[in-house]
Amino acid sequence: MVGFQFQDIAGYHQQLLAGTTTCAAAVEHYLQAISRQPHLNAMVGVFEAEARGRAAQLDAALQAGQALLPLHGVLVSIKDVLCYEGHPVSAASHMLKGYQAVYSATAVERLIKAGAIIIGSTNCDEFAMGSTNEHSAFGPVRNAADTERVPGGSSGGAAVAVQAGLCMASLGSDTGGSVRQPADYCGVTGLKPGYGRISRWGLIAYASSFDCVGILANSVADVALIYNQLAGPDGKDSTADTTTPPQVDLQTMDKASAYRLAYLAPTMDTEGLDPEIKTAIEKTLAQLQAKGHKVAAVPFPLLEYIVPTYYVLTTAEASSNLGRFDGIRYGHQAAGQPDDLTAFYRRNRSEGFGKEVQRRIMLGSFVLSAGYYDAYFTKAQQVRQLLVDATAQIFKEFDAIIMPVSPHVAPRLGEATADPIAMYMADIFTVFANLTGVPALAVPLYRHSSGLPFGLQVLTNRGEEVLLHQLGAYLEDHFARR
Ligand code: GLN
Repeated sequence: MVGFQFQDIAGYHQQLLAGTTTCAAAVEHYLQAISRQPHLNAMVGVFEAEARGRAAQLDAALQAGQALLPLHGVLVSIKDVLCYEGHPVSAASHMLKGYQAVYSATAVERLIKAGAIIIGSTNCDEFAMGSTNEHSAFGPVRNAADTERVPGGSSGGAAVAVQAGLCMASLGSDTGGSVRQPADYCGVTGLKPGYGRISRWGLIAYASSFDCVGILANSVADVALIYNQLAGPDGKDSTADTTTPPQVDLQTMDKASAYRLAYLAPTMDTEGLDPEIKTAIEKTLAQLQAKGHKVAAVPFPLLEYIVPTYYVLTTAEASSNLGRFDGIRYGHQAAGQPDDLTAFYRRNRSEGFGKEVQRRIMLGSFVLSAGYYDAYFTKAQQVRQLLVDATAQIFKEFDAIIMPVSPHVAPRLGEATADPIAMYMADIFTVFANLTGVPALAVPLYRHSSGLPFGLQVLTNRGEEVLLHQLGAYLEDHFARR
């Protein structure tokens, strides 16, 4: 009898080899799970026929005696900002309604080459701008742990797809926390690799010097298996790292290491930090120390500047990146005859973009405008450099930095969007890794008294993804509630 039950990718592969399951059975399982849970609004495209066809091919290859591919039959969903040739991609925006990708993102191509099956595309905030997945042309996504709550954003659909068992793993994008924060709210594992580690080719740009393709899955081990296939140089992305990264191998990791762990002293006194989150992380830090790891607070007076710096720089980059959506080169064209060219652009862009995207384009145009450029944009670039330097100093003495992911658990629908500034401020712990380019991992470890999950964030130095995964796996092993 061929059945299907998913624990992790390694277990699935064992079942495939033993003949107790097939890729076809896995595909049917997930297609059913998707059709049973439309109320979550996590998926915006399901590639049924294609997934079935791919599963049949992969099963046949195995039957014919071919070796298992690294991601053989692994069902992955992709966020609606990743291009997949011949498939719709819209960045959850009316601006790109009906658009089909004309090429595939490198990350998507590598998934397929490694044997993965792309099951569909996931909902997100428009152009990946947001923290709740409520700014989407497809409507909000619901958190499967409590459907009155948001899943986080912008990769909210990607997180819920993993949380609710609609796929084995998801690709998202993380410009300021969009993989880690929804992972935190949904109780799944989320990786933002170091900047340039995974090619951005085929990822619809938000803020190019921050954007990273990230991975959401059920465990650090599953994230690592996918990361190993996606990371590495790509001639199509001039900002991709040109060195081949070492593969993550959690089997042979040195379990005896004593890690040197820092936490930024002011993080624990951040205004609005939920006392339960603070207590849980402090307790874990104390337990880590008791296990012989070095744990120390480091002063970090720059913390209060990171959110403003992030929002000045990302909106500046967004206003430039989104200039191409003018209704001529790309995007929605309003009906009827405009009076002149300016009116034509204005109508196309006012109709095509939602409110949050418009807000950011305006903010970005403002900080780049003559007269304000030096006061805002140049100043923010300088602060970014100070952050990079201060972070490099910390990594001279420490292996990793530990932080919360979000100051609070998933808010109720409608609760966070009322005050955009408060929503921006809640990005305080996640934007740090994007400003400095370091890799970061959100590991779900805890349960809040509200019943909602939350986790802890680990950051390592540039180039240290192997250590990052090892530490993540260590924390998962020792501290995850079972
Ligand atoms: N919440 C952040 C923002 O709104 C992060 C977005 C992202 O990482 N794409 O910009």
